[in-house]
Amino acid sequence: MSSNEKIPFLDLITPHVELEAELLAVCQKVLRTAGFVGGPMVEEFEREFAKFCDTKYCVGLASGTDAVRFALMAAGVQQGDTVVTVSHTFIATTEAITQAGARIAFVDINEQTYCMDPAKLREYLERECHVDAATGKLIHTKTKSPVTAIVPVHIYGQVADMDAILELAHRFNLIVVEDACQAHGAEYFSKKENRWRKAGSIGQAGAFSFYPGKNLGACGEAGAVTTNDEEMARKMRMIRDHGQAKKYYHDIEGYNGRLDSLQAGFLTVKLRHLADWNQKRQAAARRYQELFGKTDGLIMPFQPQWSRPVFHLFVVRVNDRAALQKHLADAKIDTGIHYPVPLHQQKAYAHLGYKAGDFPVTERIAPEILSLPMFPQLTPEQQARVVTETARFLEQSGAAKQNSPVPVQV
Ligand SMILES: *Cc1c(COP(=O)(O)O)cnc(C)c1O
Repeated sequence: MSSNEKIPFLDLITPHVELEAELLAVCQKVLRTAGFVGGPMVEEFEREFAKFCDTKYCVGLASGTDAVRFALMAAGVQQGDTVVTVSHTFIATTEAITQAGARIAFVDINEQTYCMDPAKLREYLERECHVDAATGKLIHTKTKSPVTAIVPVHIYGQVADMDAILELAHRFNLIVVEDACQAHGAEYFSKKENRWRKAGSIGQAGAFSFYPGKNLGACGEAGAVTTNDEEMARKMRMIRDHGQAKKYYHDIEGYNGRLDSLQAGFLTVKLRHLADWNQKRQAAARRYQELFGKTDGLIMPFQPQWSRPVFHLFVVRVNDRAALQKHLADAKIDTGIHYPVPLHQQKAYAHLGYKAGDFPVTERIAPEILSLPMFPQLTPEQQARVVTETARFLEQSGAAKQNSPVPVQV
């Protein structure tokens, strides 16, 4: 490959060209059976994905947003409840909370993992909430709203510190729905259980997105919830299908949130390659780490002992992010920012009344994070160019000699 060919942030073409014959066979099968929504192809994918995630059940849905929303609803989150999550995530996490009828409460993230900080969660639960003596319910003292659920987000493909989060959830009797939309196949070593656990199998439910750019992506919109709870699975099957278990007999009002057969068929084909694709992402991440070595002025992703991340994104931190991004763009290297503005500082959430300084870690990293090219087909040559150009920028700008962002110990 010539040295100034464009390096994409993500390659969605190659895997689909490689699997074209199989994907076309799916189209043909769907056309010839005219089973467009639900049916055996959806059930097959649900079985396979549940197996992949080590859960008993998987409920196929129309999107990851629906997955978070339906999981919260099926787990019992009520109108007016408060659900605790992080501000450092994609807005779908909090849209789902609001759409489930609940209030959003944010806590800060850990500066090394970028996931929910259990210490901050504990602080919130202990200091801002109290247990109502009459009902035994946990109440947010200022708003008087019952706090009923936690949504940890496995950001960039790394599972949050779930032992600590589950311990708090247990102590305060809270539901845990994992936002695993970026973490298909990621693993967490539970010290408590002395075993590795898959993302989506740790809380009461795990929400997944199959948006095309995710580690497992459909050729359109799709999502799913995984759970070991039979009753929750049953409820979600109803919620996704207008509140009916039997056609035209509606126990509740539901939604149109079903997975269609075409996407389910595509996903079944692609799922067979997910473990291999994840390994290739992990190998690429190791290669980035080796090539960058101890480059000054740059913070690499941090991988705790208890984590086997799947590198949905490879995110570094740098002081002069805008200039580095421009330097890389001039060198024909695409990058991304996930995400530039924390949710508590978005216009959409002005009404929540948060202010600058409320979540120092989230606010500190937002202007420094940069997502480098990361996808299974990324070549060593492409990575070498990304690293060379980044190092060149840091040298030229003198960034390496300035204070580099310093991560705080967990
Ligand atoms: C992609 C994503 C979602 C939403 O998934 P959609 O399928 O786009 O609705 C939710 N949470 C996180 C963290 C995501 O990255």
